[in-house]
Amino acid sequence: MKILAIESSCDETAAAVVEDGRKVISSVVASQVEEHKLYGGVVPEIASRRHAEAIVPVVKNSLEQAELTLKEIDAIAVTYAPGLIGALLVGVNFAKGLSLSTGLPLVPTHHLRSHIASNYISNPNLKPPFLCLVVSGGHSHIVMVEDYTKMRIIGKTRDDAAGEAFDKAARTMGMPYPGGIALDKVAEDGDPFAFKLPRPTVSGSQYDFSFSGLKTAVINLIHNSAQKGIELNKADVCASFRYAVVDCLKTNFLKAAEDLKVDKLVIAGGVSANRLLRSSLQEECDKHGLAFYMPEKSLCGDNAAMVGSQGYYEFLSGNIASTDLNAFATMSIEL
Ligand code: ATP
Ligand code: MG
Ligand code: FE
Repeated sequence: MKILAIESSCDETAAAVVEDGRKVISSVVASQVEEHKLYGGVVPEIASRRHAEAIVPVVKNSLEQAELTLKEIDAIAVTYAPGLIGALLVGVNFAKGLSLSTGLPLVPTHHLRSHIASNYISNPNLKPPFLCLVVSGGHSHIVMVEDYTKMRIIGKTRDDAAGEAFDKAARTMGMPYPGGIALDKVAEDGDPFAFKLPRPTVSGSQYDFSFSGLKTAVINLIHNSAQKGIELNKADVCASFRYAVVDCLKTNFLKAAEDLKVDKLVIAGGVSANRLLRSSLQEECDKHGLAFYMPEKSLCGDNAAMVGSQGYYEFLSGNIASTDLNAFATMSIEL
């Protein structure tokens, strides 16, 4: 079964053709990041306008690269939540029009479920159940993936997402948006123990995260030093901050796995590209005899291949939308 998938939840306009949820036939991603960089973050109205301009060429391109016509496609999957509402509406309405004109079934797909599904592409043998750490620009969840379309939230952030914390810390150090990627690179040359940063915990829930205190601590460290005319070693600041964030993520994730007696661990979302998160979780899992899976780096950020993968399993479970499908800025991954 071949699915044409469309993604427009944030600042990437993307389309892909995926076969049986696992095989990527084509994948096209048009990123707007260079334009949003000018403003230090995503400007919602600009994002919507760029999606409107890019959606037709991007979808056409994905079909051309797949050497397929719409007649050879079996269903259309589209991201309908969560994300920037004006951005989502572009993809949803385009997919609805395409579904109406071709008669193909329309499969509404949840963006975070798709991030998880990127792992089905990178790890052909991976099957639920497993415990997944979903860490992205807007979310930080520990999710029990009981089946392809059945999920239970075990823990989540009470304030900032991990990606957001990385981006804000990086911005304070003058790195361009999205700074998480640059911060990760600079941290490679630093000492993770150079600065002592807090490990905020959430009272009453041992699996929930809190990153705003940690973010504020590093921002204060940078500002206070600048005021005093002290020049900090940037690599050391990046390394210490990255170590602290990864430590928080790892601690709760591994604790949840132990308590739930799960022996299959998976990571997903933009932050799952983080080098330290990948290497240290791999190390911990090897040490404790746990299976560990991650998406290839090119599938960690937003793309439509992952939508085509999750869309396949949503289709199999009977999740088909009618033509009144709407977009939603927020929606639980549990649905
Ligand atoms: P969401 O998926 O929650 O709706 P989003 O789609 O904007 O949000 P993603 O595209 O999944 O987010 O991920 C982008 C985030 O990942 C950014 O915050 C970015 O800084 C972060 N990120 C990407 N690479 C790395 C890295 N190597 N280390 C740390 N953070 C990273
Ligand atoms: Mg993006
Ligand atoms: Fe995302």
